[in-house]
Amino acid sequence: MKEIRNIFFDLDRTLWDFEKNSKETLQELFTEFGLNNHIESFSIFHKKYIDINKNLWQLYRKNKITKEELRYKRFEETLKKLKVSQFNLGKDFGEEYIKRSPQKINLVEGSKEILEHLSINYTLHIITNGFKEVQYIKLNNSGISTYFQNIIISEEVGYNKPHIKIFRHAETLAKASANECLMIGDDYEPDIKGALNAGWKAIFFSNKKIDNPLSTQISQLKEIKKLL
Ligand SMILES: [Mg+2]
Repeated sequence: MKEIRNIFFDLDRTLWDFEKNSKETLQELFTEFGLNNHIESFSIFHKKYIDINKNLWQLYRKNKITKEELRYKRFEETLKKLKVSQFNLGKDFGEEYIKRSPQKINLVEGSKEILEHLSINYTLHIITNGFKEVQYIKLNNSGISTYFQNIIISEEVGYNKPHIKIFRHAETLAKASANECLMIGDDYEPDIKGALNAGWKAIFFSNKKIDNPLSTQISQLKEIKKLL
């Protein structure tokens, strides 16, 4: 790790607590849209939504549905599956969810402390596969955007992690060579394999068991202090 000068963080689920923020938003909208009159409990709705959202994301990644379709279909299909007759609420629900969830400010435990610690000796950046109109809101509202010199969003670059071009683009912006770059992220294929393939170092932040992980693995952000 001695050569490292630039640290690139993933955003969702690495720093910004995606699950908590999403659940908080869904819970609010569940009540506001009166779904509590049609569905027995929020947890039934939430569980179904998680499954359906996961499947639709897979279709989106394979370019089988558009971003717009993904955004409302996940709610429309959840309501259909739960036999809510006003499943057409899905569109409004989806639009409100997209507006509201990025405003949420829950961060993964230890985020601010580790950013504060690392910012003393390293230049920090973000590389995220999210959508540009929401990722900036998340970073600004949660109060961490000032830690980063560059915020690199796949939608703006035109390539998603793990594509090597997004990592090369990041090096150019940071004026760094590959051996000076480290990626920290929670998603093994895009974050870790992508970074290693580009000749970077990587730290895998996850509780998931991976057979023969190719990089150092941590389960809490504070463990980074022992490494850097
Ligand atoms: Mg992530």
